[in-house]
Amino acid sequence: MTLDINTLLVVTVANMVVLALISPAVMGSRLEAAANAARWSLVVHAAAWVCMILANLWPETWRDRALSTLSLVGFCGTHWLMLQALQGWLGPRRGVRTVTALTWLTPLGYFFLFDSYPWRVGWANILLAVQLLLLTAACFAPATSLRGRWRWVVATGLFSMAVLTFGRGYLGAFTDLYPSFLTPHPWNVAAMLMTNLAPLMINFAILGGWHEEAETALYRQAVTDALTGLLNRRGWQEVANPMIAHASRHDLPMALLMIDIDLFKGINDRFGHDAGDRALQALSQLLGNAIRSSDVLARVGGEEFCLLLSGNDAPAAQHLDQRLRQQLPTLAQTLGHPLNFSAGLALHQPGETLDRLMIRADKALYAAKHAGRGQLYIASTDNADERP
Ligand code: GH3
Ligand code: MG
Ligand code: MG
Repeated sequence: MTLDINTLLVVTVANMVVLALISPAVMGSRLEAAANAARWSLVVHAAAWVCMILANLWPETWRDRALSTLSLVGFCGTHWLMLQALQGWLGPRRGVRTVTALTWLTPLGYFFLFDSYPWRVGWANILLAVQLLLLTAACFAPATSLRGRWRWVVATGLFSMAVLTFGRGYLGAFTDLYPSFLTPHPWNVAAMLMTNLAPLMINFAILGGWHEEAETALYRQAVTDALTGLLNRRGWQEVANPMIAHASRHDLPMALLMIDIDLFKGINDRFGHDAGDRALQALSQLLGNAIRSSDVLARVGGEEFCLLLSGNDAPAAQHLDQRLRQQLPTLAQTLGHPLNFSAGLALHQPGETLDRLMIRADKALYAAKHAGRGQLYIASTDNADERP
């Protein structure tokens, strides 16, 4: 079986152009920055290959020089755009500056070295391989919550391209085994096959990144309260349940503080719904600033908040309640009207579920309301009464 480089090249380029053309239909037009960069990398990649084919129509002429340089601009641009996509999905990446510098240096050097075949082929391919290696590394160690296995597929595609591109550069610069782009040397055939396969892998995997990004955003929306940015009731269940289970297993102290704004309906009635919203936002911020990073805070109802305090006993939770109350006058000043809350505290009992714990905290809260509002009540552990 002989694989003809020319045919491979044409098929490869045809694949890429088709991929680039159908990408808007598949991915839509309302893309986040990362997915958009990934899509543009497809388009630029296809354009780069078209330039490469055209350059081969006029070998060793000024047209070849111009079009090959342009196609290198395209390959480097593709890499740069892919790095932008990876950054968008995985957070700050290393090697961005190097890839950016190489994006300019590679085609520039190629243009001036064009008259020497070994120099230009060595220069371009080895620098492209360096970019590909940096891109491979950029697939790992995500700084965001995106950890999908699509990253491994991208990395595999990029790494195999890096090895084959480096080989091409080496053969062209230091041997006479690769005298032209269409040389049927086995390494070149392998490189051309991989040039066909790698984008297939990478582009398919990029859809994985895009999907994971969308899924993560959707999940975040589903567990977040839009007004305050806190966890909503669903998010509360998702985060607090495993924490309670963990506390039960390891016999760790845990306290639930349930807070409800007093006579909030009156605030809405007197100062308007917008003022009510601002009060909710301000109190959320106050609560957020008062807790530790290991605690959980959620808006579980209209004007009702839950705080899961890890490691806390009754005095510690009471102290937190006191600290919050001390800040209420300042809060009232900012808002232009008074704001107070009642609170119920329940200490987690061995083996108790979140639901049970919440029922007890709610009872204590009810008792605090009943006793005149603006105070904290502690839930009973048995049938005894709640106490202030
Ligand atoms: P209590 O001291 O007994 O808790 O009295 P309350 O008025 O705070 O309690 P009630 O449950 O009677 O009323 C809660 C009010 O909270 C009613 C509702 O209109 C208001 N509310 C719920 N969600 C929002 C919101 O997102 N924004 C605003 N502005 N008001 C809200
Ligand atoms: Mg209320
Ligand atoms: Mg309420």
